Amino acid sequence: MNIRRTGPTPASPARPAELPPVPAGVGLASDRARKRMVDALRAAGIRDEGVLAAMDRVPRHQFIEPGLASRAYEDVALPIGHGQTISKPSTVARMIEILAAPILPAQRRQARVLEVGTGCGYQAAVLAAVFGEVVSIERVRGLHEAARTNLRTMRLPNLRLVFGDGRLGAPTAAPFDAIIVAAAGDAIPDELLTQMRAPSRLLAPIEEGGRQALHLVERTGRDVWQLTILDSVRFVPLRTGTT
Ligand code: SAH
Repeated sequence: MNIRRTGPTPASPARPAELPPVPAGVGLASDRARKRMVDALRAAGIRDEGVLAAMDRVPRHQFIEPGLASRAYEDVALPIGHGQTISKPSTVARMIEILAAPILPAQRRQARVLEVGTGCGYQAAVLAAVFGEVVSIERVRGLHEAARTNLRTMRLPNLRLVFGDGRLGAPTAAPFDAIIVAAAGDAIPDELLTQMRAPSRLLAPIEEGGRQALHLVERTGRDVWQLTILDSVRFVPLRTGTT
């Protein structure tokens, strides 16, 4: 697949600064901690009200093991088992904001989104609060099942969890209005590029020469994909097959 690269790397949009730590507890305390997290996201430059509302709605502490749940609303990546991590809130919010930007608020509930790398299911829940239909694929069976358990009480009928190799996408659900990859590979698989609707956006961390950068691909026509390289990032590796 030939992706056209658009000139020199443009200045990346304002990158949210590190957010201050927010202590979390249970019930009302976690509601308050989450509100403070959203205030901090806003202060750090997240502008999309739909994304901010979704970050306010999803109880991040419910996706994290009890021993670490008190840190759920700090702006940090945390371990979720199987050597994987949940992305920090500012990364989740920023990536979803970039994906949603071209889709009018009134059209988001019709948009279909693919996530590669369900992990604990947190980002999938935020996506399901923003978009109409979400398919999320995970290659580690233990995490796929943990995500199912974590998401049960949220009852999100518009979110479908799939166990499989997300590098192959979900051909029967394609085309997608947005695709988000939560693990870093050395290239964007052709399967994902062909499953993009024209127009649509894909965001994926890509590793090149030991460094990772967030790649934004915009499919603007049937045969036109444009690449913009955004910030440097740190994600777990995208792997092949299932386990
Ligand atoms: N969005 C997740 C982040 C999880 S970290 C969250 O909110 O928790 C990235 C995840 O990608 C890991 O769970 C890892 O197992 C998964 N992954 C890596 N390669 C994959 C592949 N080829 N297909 C599907 N999932 C993959």
